[in-house]
Amino acid sequence: MRARAYNFGAGPAMMPDAVIERIAREWQNFRGEGYSAMELGHRSEHFAEIHARAKADLRELLGVPASHHILFLHGGATPHFAMVPLNLAQPGQSADYIHTGYWSDKAMAEASSLVNVRIAASAAASEFDRVPERAGWQLDPAAAYVHICANETIGGVEFADYPDTGDVPLVADMSSNILSQPLDVARFGLIYAGAQKNIGPAGLAIVIIRDDLLGRVRSGVPSVMNYARHVEWDSMYNTPAAFAIWVAGLVFEYVKKEGGVAEMARRSAAKARCIYDVLNASRLYTNRIQPASRSRMNVPFFLREPRLETRFLDGARRRGLLNLKGHRATGGIRASLYNAMPLDGARELAEYMTEFERRHG
Ligand SMILES: *Cc1c(COP(=O)(O)O)cnc(C)c1O
Repeated sequence: MRARAYNFGAGPAMMPDAVIERIAREWQNFRGEGYSAMELGHRSEHFAEIHARAKADLRELLGVPASHHILFLHGGATPHFAMVPLNLAQPGQSADYIHTGYWSDKAMAEASSLVNVRIAASAAASEFDRVPERAGWQLDPAAAYVHICANETIGGVEFADYPDTGDVPLVADMSSNILSQPLDVARFGLIYAGAQKNIGPAGLAIVIIRDDLLGRVRSGVPSVMNYARHVEWDSMYNTPAAFAIWVAGLVFEYVKKEGGVAEMARRSAAKARCIYDVLNASRLYTNRIQPASRSRMNVPFFLREPRLETRFLDGARRRGLLNLKGHRATGGIRASLYNAMPLDGARELAEYMTEFERRHG
């Protein structure tokens, strides 16, 4: 067994070993300054350099064009369920939502008191087993924006490609699949992501927003909820999450060193294949998501007999395969395979699943 466990938790999630080691080295004595990394002042030269470098590295990794700003904000992904309508739509205007499961549902519910939420497409009728076919979407050309959840972390449903929404800004919650594949950022008006899945410590959010959208904020929006204010202050309107931004920067460096998002996409495909191959061949495990919409990041599955779940989880834990319990809303098992999960972790889980089925199938 490795010294560090394979943590399959959905978030806060596994971090790369190299980043954990780096944090440990600088934890007590940051860059030889005699203070801890957690004491890093946001007005220090160190932080100015760290912040600028984190932004530049993220811009390089995702090819973020000059038309788009990058923000590091507090509060995770959830505030953006409200901030998106407050900043991009006037009261009474309508916005299109693609309903693909739990998180798009949360986004719609929060937006519904701020904007006229139109469901342009929904997979509810098939119990969220897919991303609705693009051909069936009923988009409104007058919508303030189109909102999608790029990867439904709980349901295990991921967009295989992103729609062209023409002049209507495309807004995506990429909390659980950002940095896992190359992206044409120019096609998006706004991307937001909580950090705790693929980037770093919980509490931090990344926002990428197209410059011309900053002028659409409705009047009366508080400063901390106003993207334009955050752009104006370069994410320092109030004290930024300095430690979390430092760690996010270490993760960006790590992803660059490992070969960038194209390499992350190759690894993600290989890890997901390990697990889906076992599911496809199994009579014990089931995953009901249509193959074309299956998430590379979160693989939920059920055991034919729920009473075996506890035994499955106990056996996994003894092997250092941790946090495989499914979300409380769905039950079952869920394996999250974010960037920091090594291919060997997915392989060990696949082997364990096969062996468990041999004994209990
Ligand atoms: C985890 C998650 C969220 C919520 O993130 P918080 O940081 O808890 O606000 C939102 N959307 C998606 C897709 C997620 O995976």
